[in-house]
Formats: sequence, structure tokens, C-alpha cells
Amino acid sequence: MYAKVIVDVPAKQTNRGFDYLIPEALREWVAIGSRVAVPFGPRKLQGFVVELHDRPDFDPAKLKPISEVLDLYPPLTPDLVELAEWVSQTYLCHEITALQAMVPGALKAKYERHIKVGDKDLDGAHGDLLSQGQHTLLLPIEEDIIEFVRGKGSIEIGSLLSKFTSQGSLIKQMITQGQLLEVQLIKDRMSAKKVLTVFPVEQPLQLMDWAEQLPDKSKKQKQVLLYLAESPYPIKLSDLLSELNISASTVKGLADKGYLSIKEVEVQRDPYALRTFPRTVPLTLTPEQEVVFGSISQAVNELEHRVFLLHGVTGSGKTEVYLQSIQTCLDQGREAIVLVPEISLTPQMVERFKGRFGNQVAVLHSRLSQGERFDEWRKIMLKQVNVVIGARSAIFAPFTKVGLIIIDEEHESSYKQEESPKYHARDVSIARAAQHGAVVVLGSATPSLESMYGTLPEAEQTQIGSSGNPPATLRSIGNLAKPKVRFELLTMRERVEGRPLPKVHIVDMREELSEGNRSMFSRSLHKAIEDRIQKKEQIVLLLNRRGYATFVMCRSCGYVAECPHCDISLTYHQSAKTLRCHYCGYTEREATVCPSCSSEHIRHFGTGTQRVEEELGKLFPGIRVIRMDVDTTTEKGSHEKWLTLFRNQQADVLLGTQMVAKGLDFPMVTLVGALAADTVLNLPDFRAAERTFQLLTQVGGRAGRHELPGEVFIQTYTPEHYSIISASKHDYTSFMDKEMGFRKFHDYPPFHRLILITLSHEQIPLLMRSAETFAAKLKELAKSLAPVPIEILGPVASPISRIKDRYRFQCMVKYRGEASIAGLVQQAAATLSDVEKQYKLTISIDVDPQVLM
Ligand code: ADP
Ligand code: ZN
Ligand code: ZN
Repeated sequence: MYAKVIVDVPAKQTNRGFDYLIPEALREWVAIGSRVAVPFGPRKLQGFVVELHDRPDFDPAKLKPISEVLDLYPPLTPDLVELAEWVSQTYLCHEITALQAMVPGALKAKYERHIKVGDKDLDGAHGDLLSQGQHTLLLPIEEDIIEFVRGKGSIEIGSLLSKFTSQGSLIKQMITQGQLLEVQLIKDRMSAKKVLTVFPVEQPLQLMDWAEQLPDKSKKQKQVLLYLAESPYPIKLSDLLSELNISASTVKGLADKGYLSIKEVEVQRDPYALRTFPRTVPLTLTPEQEVVFGSISQAVNELEHRVFLLHGVTGSGKTEVYLQSIQTCLDQGREAIVLVPEISLTPQMVERFKGRFGNQVAVLHSRLSQGERFDEWRKIMLKQVNVVIGARSAIFAPFTKVGLIIIDEEHESSYKQEESPKYHARDVSIARAAQHGAVVVLGSATPSLESMYGTLPEAEQTQIGSSGNPPATLRSIGNLAKPKVRFELLTMRERVEGRPLPKVHIVDMREELSEGNRSMFSRSLHKAIEDRIQKKEQIVLLLNRRGYATFVMCRSCGYVAECPHCDISLTYHQSAKTLRCHYCGYTEREATVCPSCSSEHIRHFGTGTQRVEEELGKLFPGIRVIRMDVDTTTEKGSHEKWLTLFRNQQADVLLGTQMVAKGLDFPMVTLVGALAADTVLNLPDFRAAERTFQLLTQVGGRAGRHELPGEVFIQTYTPEHYSIISASKHDYTSFMDKEMGFRKFHDYPPFHRLILITLSHEQIPLLMRSAETFAAKLKELAKSLAPVPIEILGPVASPISRIKDRYRFQCMVKYRGEASIAGLVQQAAATLSDVEKQYKLTISIDVDPQVLM
């Protein structure tokens, strides 16, 4: 009879379910998880049904009815609705924010203000008068407007105003008087996408004839015809242009002559529909794989909620274990979710899953268009697939019988979402698996300290993954509030077929410098590159910095070019000769003289990927380099394109930021160079050593994965650091021991948990005052939890003290175990809600933060 609906307004006052009446006609359609349109004050809003019941909080006679059900099938399952509540409690966000994160962007409502002809006109006096031909009461222009709107049925207000440009105030008046009516429509954000596509109009032989008949000077046009003769299929105009490196006018010219046609075509929204994936059969497992697979499949078969941490060295064949475990899960009629980090969701990875499970697999990643994403997601909802492989948010795939959740490269920080809801997919996956009695497999060659800690007996007292006792308001999440399981450790120490791990050399760059080598390549790496080029083997080079140089500095006065809006130095980009801010996108032209002292000795320092590319070209003439970083991979499909080129050995070197470190498997790669291993190590973050170890191990793991043995060079200015030494020896255990000791000593995670509160405002005094008020309030509230140890640090200026003209201060809460501190943080933040509203202060709360900047 009644539905509790959470509406699409992320605010404190609306962060609860509101009761609505379910009209008779909609009863069959409204379910938990339905997306509905409801009246809310004067507006109409989108919302999600989170509960059905027959005891409303208020006088049922006063309840408004649900206006519309927006989808044929509810986009959320009841367990997802429940999980959304857990997410909002755990990561301190509005529940609607958690719900919205679970549906594809296409279903986020777009509110459009539309105008219709008012009721007054239809039924009332004006209508009668009009129909009787007595126009005298309406101005001619008013009649025009009414006729125009009537003709359209309803029209978006902006379009109406642009049609009658000078009549803004008249239209407003007509709305007030009821001649026109304003209605709010809820539209989905999706629309079919069309692209220009080139069609050959004749058979290949004819096309070749035509090509021959073209005059010699039309070389480019000939090229196009021959291309189509060779592959007589429709092709996207943009693809053709980039493939042949020609301009659109060449193709248009041919179309004008009738040699081909260009049409608008709705894009095929299954991004993989045109590709065939050779089917693969299960491999015979190695003894190590066998043991691991045995444990996982047994748990899956017993429908037990268990969490495994699979520590397997790079190349140990984790993927094959995943595939066979998934098969066990499917054999039971249940579904599997596979999460991989966004940047390693390469065609290669997709191929492995599609190759085994064919079109039972849906793929979700952010490089899909909104429409493509929506279609993949619908396949999941309509049960056309039973495996999904995707980045972080695929954990919310609307499956109803989840049997297995796999998180590959579980240590990756990208599993944590940096905007609200700031959830960690690893922790969410455990909560979701608990709901379904499902098995979780966390796989990595370098498991995170958090997950390793989860395997220790000690972890049972101070569990990661739940931020305290559930507040009393919880509707239903009961056992979800404390997903307590001890992780079980599974290990694979050997690479498949006894292939050796690559030999790793640490190169001390200080020594290079003192012996007069100022190049970014050490002598030994230089030699190794020469050697591989000669042998026609391939090379991966890692440099964790994009652009040309890290910063621009004046040698005369020390001036450093900084972003005027953020507290961060600008990065030089060679191709555009500009300086760019990597936080806000601010761009300025390269200066030839110092803006501060007018000296000409202003230069870029440091090394970025672009600079290395240039240097490679100078040092190794003829070398073919593919550069992969955010600047070269923004375009859709570019990622795939570069990797395919490299795989086809059309390049000698794959150079890039951490993008090149993850998950790639190329047989001809026998040399890996980490050019500046210290870049990550020097970050002001307690996880710097862990990230360095992980990155070096991962990138090193790209070498020698097949028949040819691999070799790795790590160039560093701190060769004595334990993260670098351990990585070079493939010694995870000794790294883990040292790092655990360091964390324990400093009360860092995984021994303590953190909540980071960042406040930002344009003015420092107000910001400081607010931050201090917040900290004082929190300290006072925290007393109630004594004797649970809670440390409240700050407020201090954030490491990046200003972004986009807003100053930033932070407080850090360190605590242990089950302390229900999260609620208190929220309470303390609430004392500032007036300042938030009135003065536009922003407070962001990050539970279990991964980035402390
Ligand atoms: P990881 O993900 O652990 O780094 P992969 O799953 O990429 O390792 O496996 C490395 C290589 O070994 C792949 O080329 C894979 O096809 C191959 N491989 C995996 N398991 C087996 C097996 N049981 N027999 C033969 N080859 C295998
Ligand atoms: Zn900036
Ligand atoms: Zn200067």
C-alpha cells in the first residue's frame, strides 16, 4: 500500500525515506528498488523505493501518490538497496548518493522544465473565447505563443524562450496567470549516438577499377578506394581518417563523385559485438594452481561466505585459477563478479574472459559511452549474462545470485572511489558477498597490508571493513553491519612452467652522476636497450610522471611556475609548449623570460614521459616508441590502439606512467626499466613505500613472462631503501615484515583506522575557525567513547593547501577497532552546517582514505 522513497536530493533533511501512497494502477509495478517519480513540495523528483509497508508514519489520507514508475524492471535489487544503506552508514554519505552510484549514469535523472498550454486555456474562459473566435482578450503575440506551444504538445522552456526571444517577461506572466503551465519532466540522460560511417557502394573489383581511373595526383583518394577494396565493409569516418592519415575532404570528394557513400549510423552499442573471441579451454592446472583452485571451489560449492587472499607472484597463472573458479560458480547456477583496476581492463583481459565464457560476459568500464554502459548493464539485469568483468563500480552489478567475487590486483588504490560515495570496492565486495553467502577472492602479487592483516588472528579484534556499531536508525542491514571474517591466505610462489622471475638490477643514479653520466638512462640500462633493439625484443619503460618536465624554474632567482589557483607547480608540456596544472587544468604559455626577475635562465627541470620519448629518439636513432599516459589516452579506444600496436611488435618500446605496469602480458618483452623509482617513494604519504614496492614488482613482472627470460633495471637515488631492495629480490615477506613494523610503530593502518576530514574555503580565517570548531567538537564528543583510544590530529593545512582557489585544512582521526567514531565525526561536522550553507564551506569526510593530500 505504501512505499518509502528516497528522493534525488543529496541533503541532510532529505536523507531518509518519505512515505508515498502506491496508486492502484501501479501496484503491480512498484517494488523495492524501483525508480519512481514522486511529487515533492512543488517539484517532481526522481527517487528509489527502499521499502514497502502498510504502516505510514503520518496520516495516510495526507500522503501523496507515486506519480510514475520509470522503468519496466526495477534497476536495483533488494539486496543492493540494503547494501546502499550499509555504504551510506560506513562511508558517511547520503543514501541517495549510494543508490545513484549503483545505477548507470544513463539512469541519473535529468530534470527538464517544460511548458504546456495551461488548463485555464483548455477548459476555462480563454479556451471558450478562443474557440468562439473572440480573440480580443488575448494579445496577438500571446495567441502566437499559445498556438506554438499547443502545436508542440509540450516544449522545453529554453527552446520556447529562444523562439520568442524578446517575450521572456510575457511568458513568465502567462505562466503566473495560468495560460501556460510549467511541468517538470524527468528524462534519462541517454540518447542514441550516431556517427558518420563510410560505405563502399560497389564490389571490390569495381572499386579497384575506379582507383585506377583516378588521375595520379589524387593519390589520397586512390588510397581510400584501395583500402575499401581490400576491406569492403562500412567503417567509421573517423577511423578511416586516422587509419589512412587523410582529411575528411578527401573522403567527401569521393562521396561527391558517387564512389562511396557517407551516412549517419546509430552506433552499435555492444563494444565487443563485432569482435570474435577465440574460445579457450581450461588448462591443466599446475600443482600450485590445483591447491588454490581446490580451496576456492570447495568454498563455492558449499555456499559459504569466505574470503581468500591469493598471493601469487606475477606470471603464476592467477587468471586461470579465476576462470576455473568462475566455472564452478556458474555450474551451480550462480553468478560471478570480477573486478580489475580500470587501467588494466585492457582488451587482453577482456579477451581472456570472453574467450572462456563467450557472450555470458558483460564488460563495464569507464571508457564505454553512457549508452554502451547502459546496454551492458541491462544484460546483467535481464540475466542475459552471468559473469561481469569491470572496474570498481561493477561490484554493484544487479545480479541476484552472486556466488563468487574476484578482485584482481586487490592492492590497487583505484578500488577506492575518491568522490562521494567514497567507498572501497574491496570492503563493499565483502559486505555484498556476506549478503549472498558468496566467496571473495582477493588476488595480487603484492597484497595490501590491509588484506595481509586480515589473515592474522589479531585482525579479528580490530576488523577492517566496518566502521563501527550500526546506528539505531538501521532498517534491515543487521548482520551486514559487521562483516567479520578472517581472510584465508593462499599462495602461489612459482611462475607457470617454472619460468624464472626476472633478474633485477638496482642502479644507483648518484654514482652515474658522479661518473659524469647526466643522461636519464644509466649506462647499464642504455646498453640493455641497445641489446634488445638489436635482438628485436621489446622493452617496457616506466616513468611515473607525465608531461615533459616536472616543473619550470628560474636558475637566477629560484622562481618556480605555480598554478595561480592551486598550491602546486605547473608541468611543462612539450607538444603544445604550455604549462599545465594537473589539478585544475589551468594552462599558460611557456615563458621565455622569468616573470619574477626577467632573467632568461628559466628552464624546465626533471623528467616527464614526453621528455623521455624525445631523449630515446636522440639516443637510439630509429627507435619506435609508444608513449602511454593520460595525455595520449584520453581519446576513446586509444588505450587499446597503443597496446595492439605494441603487441603486434610495431614498436620497440612501450613507455608510460603506471598504466604500463599493470596486467599486461606480452611475450616479446624481455627488458623493463623503472627510470625514476623514487618518484613515488618521496610522496608525503605513509603508503609511499608500499606503493613503491608494488609498482616495481608489478612493472618488473611484465618481463620474461613467456619463453624468453626477462631482466629489470631499477634506477634510483635511494638504492638502500627496503622497498627497493625487497622488490629487486622478489621478497614480499621481508618487505611485509618491515612495513608492518613501521605501521605498527606509527599507529597507521592496518593497525589503526583513519578518517580524514578536509575542509575548504576561499578565505583562510573562516576556514581556520571552522576547522578548529570542528576539531574541538569532535574531541568533546569522543570523550564519550573512553577508554577506546582515539587520536584527533589537526587541524593543519593539507599537503596540497589550495586547489581551485580554495584553501584546504584537514583533521585526521586515528582509532582502533570497532569504535563508533564515524557517527561522531558526522555529528561534529553537523555543527558547521550553517557555515556550510551560508558561507559555502565544504567539508569532505573520507573513511579509510587512500589519498592523504
Ligand atoms: P598472473 O595473473 O598471475 O600474473 P597469468 O594468469 O597472466 O599470471 O598467467 C601467466 C601466463 O601463464 C599466461 O600466459 C597464461 O596463459 C599461462 N598459464 C596460466 N596457467 C597455465 C597452466 N596451467 N598451464 C600453462 N600455461 C598457463
Ligand atoms: Zn590548478
Ligand atoms: Zn627569475
